[in-house]
Formats: sequence, structure tokens, C-alpha cells
Amino acid sequence: MFSTDYHVHSSHSFDCHISMDDQICNAINKKIQEICFTDHIELGFSEWNYQEMDLDAYFFQIQKCREKYPQIAIKTGAEAGITCSSSDLQRTVDLLQKYPFDFVIASSHRINNVTLFCPDHYENRNFPDFCKEYIQNLISSLKIFDNSLYNCVGHIDLPIKPALRFFPDFFWKEFKYEYASDEIDELIKLIISYGKCLEINTASWLLPNRQAPECKWLKRYAEMGGEYVTFGSDAHISSGIGKYYREAVILALESGIRYLAIFKDRQPEYIPLSQCL
Ligand SMILES: [Zn+2]
Ligand SMILES: [Zn+2]
Repeated sequence: MFSTDYHVHSSHSFDCHISMDDQICNAINKKIQEICFTDHIELGFSEWNYQEMDLDAYFFQIQKCREKYPQIAIKTGAEAGITCSSSDLQRTVDLLQKYPFDFVIASSHRINNVTLFCPDHYENRNFPDFCKEYIQNLISSLKIFDNSLYNCVGHIDLPIKPALRFFPDFFWKEFKYEYASDEIDELIKLIISYGKCLEINTASWLLPNRQAPECKWLKRYAEMGGEYVTFGSDAHISSGIGKYYREAVILALESGIRYLAIFKDRQPEYIPLSQCL
């Protein structure tokens, strides 16, 4: 069984206190063959005492870890927030061009440069409207972002997390395809036309009372020609690494997706999902 985790954070991220060593040892214990440290490049973020990561220190430590743990493949990566100001987006481009990442996730934690945890997003709104706006803003940002610099689009169902806080009667527990079907279709079309893929991010599967996630947007991705995905636990704690990998593989297979992608120098290699169970 081939097992990866392509969305892992370490203490190089402002919001994670787990060392690379601890994450790697946990991955080895769970028999994961390949991990990618996708620490945050989230320029201009004003929440949670955000601090920019020291990329020279990050690459230096990855090299040390590769020497120390030859039994696991360790890839360099970044999770690049792209829904930021135009000047921060340009600086993000500069960093992604400068450093030799194996894999880059383009993701969104903001709408028009305002964090998803700002209460203003939720006044007189319902969850489906919020989902629509989130995806529309992500699409706008992807259209102006250099698509040679990233490989996949991360956690498109992220709105579930703030929704639990800001919609007290929130009972959907899901980002259903129907809430933003036109927007999701447009996003999938864009991702496929750029030769990128979707990520199945299992972090939200840990939320309270969460049901098994619905797979309609993944089915839609497969119907529209999406052939491969990446998997990521988005682990900010050491026990999270590799969490729900098997369930995610099953979900992808049931949705009609055939391959898992792994990356080196931002070039994909495809592993049949049947080899991941
Ligand atoms: Zn994220
Ligand atoms: Zn993340």
C-alpha cells in the first residue's frame, strides 16, 4: 500500500509548534512512505500573530532531515495563500520562483484579503451564499496567479470551519455541491484547463459532529475530466499526520477518480489509487 501526506505543517509555520522531526517520526510510525511539508506563505495575513516563514532555514532543515531519515521521502512544499493584496501576491510569486519547491498548494484563507474569521462576512448571510463568495474569490485570484507556480488547489471546503463559529444554528456540516454548483463547476473547469488538481484535505473531517463528507463535488471533478488528486491531513499536530488517508482514498475511488499525484520539482507522478489501499 502506497501512503502519502502532502499537506503537513511544521514549526516553520506561524500556526504550528510541532518540529519537523516529530512530524517525520510520526509519519514513519504510521508507515507513510512520502510526506511534503507545506508550510504557510500567507503574506499580509494579520491574524494569529502571523510571521513570515524563514525559507532559508526551512530548506536547510529539510536537507538535514533527508539525511537523518532516509527511510521516508521528504518533499519540499508550500501552502501559498493567494487571496491577498496584489502587492503580497507579487511577493508570493517572487518567493515561489526563487525557491526550489517540489510541490505548491494554492489556497485561500481570506475573501478579498479579509480573513474568513472576520464577522463581517457573516452578517445577513447564509452558508450557501458564503460558499459562493468564497469560491468566486478563489477563482478570481487563480485567474491572475501564475499557474506555473503551483500544483493543486487546497481545501475548497474550508468555509465549514468558520461556519461552525459564525452560524450558531449551523447544521449542514457539509459544503454541499448544490450550495455553489455554478461556482464549483467554473473552478473545476479552470483547474483542469490549467493542468492542476484538487486536494482532498481531511482536516475538516475532525470537526465535531462531522459526518462522512459528501463526494458530489469530487464526482463532478471526475465527470468534468479530473483524473487525479492529492491527499493532505493539513496536520498542525503530530497525531494528525496521515489521518483519514484510507477513507480519503475510498472517497476518491467512489467518486470516479483514478490517480493520486506525488511531485518532484513541481512535476507530477501518478499512482493508481488501487495501489493506495
Ligand atoms: Zn490552509
Ligand atoms: Zn494547511
